[in-house]
Amino acid sequence: MENDEERIISHRKANKKWRLANLEHARSKKREYHLKNRERENERSKKWNAAHPEQVRENREKWNAAHSEKIKEYRTKHNGMAKELLVKLVTWARSHLGDKCTECGADVNIMFHHDDPDSKLFNISRGLHRSTEEFLMELDKCVLLCKSCHTKIHHRRKNGG
Ligand SMILES: [Zn+2]
Ligand SMILES: [Zn+2]
Repeated sequence: MENDEERIISHRKANKKWRLANLEHARSKKREYHLKNRERENERSKKWNAAHPEQVRENREKWNAAHSEKIKEYRTKHNGMAKELLVKLVTWARSHLGDKCTECGADVNIMFHHDDPDSKLFNISRGLHRSTEEFLMELDKCVLLCKSCHTKIHHRRKNGG
């Protein structure tokens, strides 16, 4: 009785093992086939594209025409979001630095000025795609200046002052 059960169990185990192994094998065969197939397809379409440049251009134009509205919509949305984020970021950065010109105290037409131009890596207003650390490090090199003080300082700098 016990023997029978053991036999059944071991048989089941073996069966499961076989099925799993088989499944793995079937999967890898399938993968192999797909890879080969894709390579072949790529080769074929490359050759076809090279032989039919006119047709390729026409197809691309057709595709673009069909999708241009969608592309436009996507771009507008994306740009809108980026602009909004940038405004938020710059507003935050300004308030972080005190929101005022460090020379005259004016609070309009404020801009970021790199105190040490040699250490400048990027403009704060172009910092949207930098990491937070990079952005904060860059911000630390800046002071706020109003437009007229900024012009003066750069003028002085140019004249070796
Ligand atoms: Zn400057
Ligand atoms: Zn000023």
